Amino acid sequence: MDRVVILGFPCMSQQRSILITGGSRGIGAAVVALAAEQGFNVCFSYLNNQSAAETVVASAKDKGRRVMAVQSDVSVETDVLSLWKTAISTFGRIDALVNNAGVLDLQSRLEDVEMPRLRRIIDTNVIGSILCAREAVRHMSTRNGGRGGSIVNLSSISARLGSPHEYVDYAASKGAIDSLTIGLSKEVATEGIRVNAVRPGTTITDIHAAGGEPDRVERVKSRIPMQRGGEAVEIANAIMWLVSDEASYTTGAILDVSGGL
Ligand code: NAP
Repeated sequence: MDRVVILGFPCMSQQRSILITGGSRGIGAAVVALAAEQGFNVCFSYLNNQSAAETVVASAKDKGRRVMAVQSDVSVETDVLSLWKTAISTFGRIDALVNNAGVLDLQSRLEDVEMPRLRRIIDTNVIGSILCAREAVRHMSTRNGGRGGSIVNLSSISARLGSPHEYVDYAASKGAIDSLTIGLSKEVATEGIRVNAVRPGTTITDIHAAGGEPDRVERVKSRIPMQRGGEAVEIANAIMWLVSDEASYTTGAILDVSGGL
């Protein structure tokens, strides 16, 4: 597919810039909106949904920041390299990465799972996040001449619960995100980069339709101590706190944002 870049308003040069993967819908779109509101220039990626990406750009543009959407598959290394190149050449530097893009598949027992599904889940959720984190370290680490920065990875409460009878493969991919967060945070702790994760609980987005049950939140909400699903903006608030200087002594943290689950 041809690369599609959609641009919002021009930027002022001293603004901070953030790269968000999977910003066209759900939690990623909420992070784009909040980051623009907080004064960041935003580059976000999406996989296929150009019209959703255009809507996100149009609404974040109202906040007067430069917002850029790039079609880029996180599971493809050349796409990730090109995404970073586009973001850096447009904004000059990137101060924060939100590793948000993630997928699951139809609810299933593990014994019924086929290889193409496994490849897509692991390549998107694990390899994609690792590739983007690698590029962030290459760009941000003071060891490499960078100015430091912040990385926030999207894990899931499923990393703790395991998601039996639904998507154990997805849960395992999120367990890997927790390990990535712990290991990388220690590796770059003296290089100006903080690495943290947010573990959302059941959040109201399209992802449940991808699992074959659009109304899943209604079915499972009685298991959640707060008795409701989360809103995407409630996850975005936690992510942007971890990005912010208010979290300057927080690294290697994995923050549950899950209504008590
Ligand atoms: P969502 O509504 O399904 O949105 C997924 C986003 O990721 C879309 O913008 C999509 O782009 C993009 N995307 C998918 N595959 C991609 C790829 N290969 N390369 C680049 N972008 C890609 O998902 P969500 O619920 O907001 O979830 C966001 C993150 O939170 C995921 O990592 C998910 O695992 C995690 N999480 C969600 C929940 C929940 O209950 N919602 C709970 C725990 C954790 P297109 O629009 O182009 O398809």
